[in-house]
Amino acid sequence: MTIKSTIFRPYDIRGIYPQEFNEDVAYRVSRSFCQKYWSAKKIIVAQDTRLSSPIIANAIIRGLVDADKQVIDIGIAPDPLFYFMIFNHKLDGGIMISASHNPKEYNGLMLSVKKPGAKMVLDIINDDLFKLRDLVLSDRKWPASRGKIGKVIKIQPEKEYLDYVARKIKLARPLKIVIDSSNGACGFLPEKIFKKLGCDVKTINGEFDGTFPNHLPDPYLEENLSDIKKAMRQYKADCGFCFDTDGDRVALIDERDRSASGDFCMLMLAREVLKKKKGPIIHDMRISKAVLDELAKQKVPTFFSICHHNAVIEEIIKRKAVFGGEITLHFLFPLDYYLCDDAVFAALKLAEVVSQQSSLAKYIDGLPYYPLSPEIFVDAPDDKKYQMIADFVKYLRKNNYDFVDVDGARINLKHGWALMRASNTGPMIKCRFEADTKEHLLEIEKEMLDLFKKTGLPITKKLYRDLGLC
Ligand SMILES: [Zn+2]
Repeated sequence: MTIKSTIFRPYDIRGIYPQEFNEDVAYRVSRSFCQKYWSAKKIIVAQDTRLSSPIIANAIIRGLVDADKQVIDIGIAPDPLFYFMIFNHKLDGGIMISASHNPKEYNGLMLSVKKPGAKMVLDIINDDLFKLRDLVLSDRKWPASRGKIGKVIKIQPEKEYLDYVARKIKLARPLKIVIDSSNGACGFLPEKIFKKLGCDVKTINGEFDGTFPNHLPDPYLEENLSDIKKAMRQYKADCGFCFDTDGDRVALIDERDRSASGDFCMLMLAREVLKKKKGPIIHDMRISKAVLDELAKQKVPTFFSICHHNAVIEEIIKRKAVFGGEITLHFLFPLDYYLCDDAVFAALKLAEVVSQQSSLAKYIDGLPYYPLSPEIFVDAPDDKKYQMIADFVKYLRKNNYDFVDVDGARINLKHGWALMRASNTGPMIKCRFEADTKEHLLEIEKEMLDLFKKTGLPITKKLYRDLGLC
């Protein structure tokens, strides 16, 4: 069969099952992974709840065994259990079978490995993943090895995880909590840990169901939060948590059934961490200036990072940071936990903050906030988008703009900021604007769209209209 090279994206492999991504592709990826990272011996395999995941898992495990690896198979499990096992058992790498929040027709792989000489296991991304792609696409044959054959151990890691994590969390009072697991791999894991901590918990959409019958498993989108909002009203809970399918992202809902923005969550968690230890904080390019202003007042150094958890993790290590995260609901806790995306742990840390308040809604209403535009998407072909950004940065430099170009360009303006960056997942450039007042926001949006247009970006009339500028 011919394998479509586009299923290999900068951060993972994803395609429609079985046309684009299937057991043959999975086997070739598994063997190529073993070939490229031959020194990695102990490899964990986990899968999300998609209907095709068991078939893909079999092919992955067969590839690892044929290449003489020791396989730790934990079955259906979210990222939190996958990463916990890697770090707590000092494993050399892992393969997670998941297409994250893509629709049910999709499946994919996320690969992690400890590279020779590296300090820790990190996801295989960008150039490393493209080199792996080239090996998968090559005409190399992969005969099953004769003689030495690897081993498979099946493990249920849940109890070990619950015991380990529960010791790290202190709630000021037991909470009433609603969990929406989106029928993904988190299942009843969050409920078990919150119950262990004395909370009253109600889980909805907790059954594993890869058809995602209730809503798409993406808590970053407001439209997927209607189930949990309804349940919040019904159970009169203190707070709610909605998880994505693989458990690396979580949305927080208050008792007035409003979702807390990623910026609010970042600030809540940063304040809590800073009580324990003052130190640098890492954030992505989209962070609100309201968060940065508060941290600056406290003389906390803050650093921009590329929008991806590998990059945030590397920056945390480099700066000896005490906290890091992205407004897309990824959070990292270097003081308390392993450096991995664990949304269950993040929910527990958010619950610590909630438990210290009499009302989450009141607390959120007191957080600083500036008017923010919705994210707007400018069409930009995949083979041109990075060049477009590079040209724009060149223009900014030539014209003495004040900007940060860690990932795209964030321009500091007198009354706010503007960001444009290439999407990692599709043929588009994403833009966002924030200002100190609504009036200034409109001014910035207009000024920046004009500037983008002037420098050659395909800014359409529709984008002006979407922002209410004409
Ligand atoms: Zn995810």
